[in-house]
Amino acid sequence: MIQLARPEDCCGCSACASACPHGAIRMEADSMGFRYPVVDASRCTDCGLCEKVCAFPHPSAAEGEVLAEAIRFPDLLDGSQSGGLSSALMRKAVGEGYVVYGAAMDADLAVRHCRAERVADLEPLRLSKYVQSDMDGVPGAVLADLKAGRKVLFTGTPCQCAGVARLCAAFRDRLLLADIVCHGVPAPALWQGYLAHEAALEGEKPVAALFRDPSLGWHAHKERLIFPHRPSKVQDHYTFLFYRHLMLRPCCSACPYASVQRPSDITMADCWGVEKALPGFADDNRGCSLMMVSTPRGRSFVESFPDACRRAPIDLQKVLQRNMVRPTRASRYAKSFENDYLRKGFAYVYRHYGPSSLNYRLEQAVWRLKKRFRK
Ligand SMILES: Cc1cc2nc3c(=O)[nH]c(=O)nc-3n(C[C@H](O)[C@H](O)[C@H](O)COP(=O)(O)OP(=O)(O)OC[C@H]3O[C@@H](n4cnc5c(N)ncnc54)[C@H](O)[C@@H]3O)c2cc1C
Repeated sequence: MIQLARPEDCCGCSACASACPHGAIRMEADSMGFRYPVVDASRCTDCGLCEKVCAFPHPSAAEGEVLAEAIRFPDLLDGSQSGGLSSALMRKAVGEGYVVYGAAMDADLAVRHCRAERVADLEPLRLSKYVQSDMDGVPGAVLADLKAGRKVLFTGTPCQCAGVARLCAAFRDRLLLADIVCHGVPAPALWQGYLAHEAALEGEKPVAALFRDPSLGWHAHKERLIFPHRPSKVQDHYTFLFYRHLMLRPCCSACPYASVQRPSDITMADCWGVEKALPGFADDNRGCSLMMVSTPRGRSFVESFPDACRRAPIDLQKVLQRNMVRPTRASRYAKSFENDYLRKGFAYVYRHYGPSSLNYRLEQAVWRLKKRFRK
């Protein structure tokens, strides 16, 4: 029976719930909206399957050479966060008869993993959603597709990919995994609280949201909220709290996948630093993907892409990010932030942890001092 000693031990991929042949495990959200497995002991036979598929404490990564390329798809840049690699992979997969899974927003702007079979269905799976996606039932759906003889491309965070890989290990030859380099996943409850706060301010609910609006440029880190009757709003209130690491899932600060050795065939990231590493390749602030390929299956899939694609080998060391080396460390204020958010709401935490808060200004002052002494 799956038993979590600490919340840090679970990434919420829900592979355990999908694996249970007795339907004894349901995923239940905690107060911040993070889902954890809850076992109905009256149905559990202690068969151990849930523990067997749990990838989080037993990370398995592809070993061997990782091929790294800078890659961009000019036709896909407008609706993509980096260089359009995810959309290119999904389109190619659909063209070759794969079923595709990725993160999308529903009508309430909650983020869930969804299934797509046609190019027309891929649009909602584009762009980064900086909130943990709900995976309830998804590993089971992937397994059902594979059992039915389909090929599947699954995209998501490395921990989600690892959970799916473990549940579907018997069909790995027809399962292509593409993960993202991940900073950590923010709390769904905070995202919904932010949307409710903005709805109260504007007098109507946002009907769409872009977490990092690509029309502002690749280097801009601002969210856009779109309202039915009012002008859209561009600001960085949510993004600011995200980058302060105040609201990440507890397991993110112990992430075993924050490495260049990945649990997936292909890894997608922003190719930050490409302007210096490959001058002239992507200097227009419109986005560039870093593609890392870890397995022969991944290599053969990315061999051919549309002619319009630009790609070039890149020295990984020159574009290495922190989350490819170690997990994001949660802010020392994360616990008090959570308590304050749950008791007092979004407006309060933005005032007390946002850019003009005392704790942020103190943190900045300490950081500047440390930097000066290191010189
Ligand atoms: C929470 C989060 C943190 C990230 N942190 C980093 C980082 O530190 N460094 C970095 O280089 N890149 C990071 N990324 C990835 C980056 O923002 C791009 O998503 C990635 O490079 C793919 O961009 P693209 O242009 O190929 O395609 P896009 O169309 O922009 O990306 C969409 C892809 O991301 C997946 N995706 C989107 N939201 C989620 C989600 N909530 N959970 C799981 N999968 C999701 C989709 O399934 C799809 O495959 C992060 C993404 C997310 C969601």
